[in-house]
Amino acid sequence: MNNEIHDTSHISYESLLEGNKQFVAKSLAEDPEFFDKLANGQKPPILWIGCADSRVPANQITNTKPGEIFVHRNIANVVVHTDMNMLSVLDYAVNVLQVKHVIVVGHYGCGGVLAAMSNQQVGLIDNWLRHIKDVYRYHTKELDAITDEKERGNRLVELNVAEGVQNLSKTSIVQNAWKNGQNLSIHGWVYALATGEITDLKVSCSNNTNLNEVFRFE
Ligand SMILES: [Zn+2]
Repeated sequence: MNNEIHDTSHISYESLLEGNKQFVAKSLAEDPEFFDKLANGQKPPILWIGCADSRVPANQITNTKPGEIFVHRNIANVVVHTDMNMLSVLDYAVNVLQVKHVIVVGHYGCGGVLAAMSNQQVGLIDNWLRHIKDVYRYHTKELDAITDEKERGNRLVELNVAEGVQNLSKTSIVQNAWKNGQNLSIHGWVYALATGEITDLKVSCSNNTNLNEVFRFE
């Protein structure tokens, strides 16, 4: 296996603007009305909640185009009910855009998850990653039993995604959508940096019956 990392030395402020010109030309060559249609509005059926990591861009890895996925990203794709940014994105996506699917997407080798698993301080972000330490605490027995550190980190990545799916289901926003008969499913995926492949963790839910009773709104 090659240990080099992707070369970004050709990337500059100017090269991005040049890249944009190429994007416009290519898009118009494929569909002369591409930007006219996008300018008229958006109707993405998917909300993506992913990691801020530069290696996990929602559109490229799903072969989708502008207008097709509504995206929210933060470090380690953490979903917590006190995050006003996430709640605003979720509310807009569910109630205005009427997305049909919300997908929490983690990725193996996530630096945020690995930092949460360690005892090293990184900085301010330690307080954000604290939420992932809670996920570890809920699954201490299972995680402590995994001796290989990389494997343990990968399992915590999966558990953090599953926790995010549960936390989305617990929001009043998602539960009200279900109560109103809206067609809305929450899913959890993991992306493998090493292969480019996405795995469905099969933790999907489309109603609140799987929630502990105290979280269920009537
Ligand atoms: Zn990450």
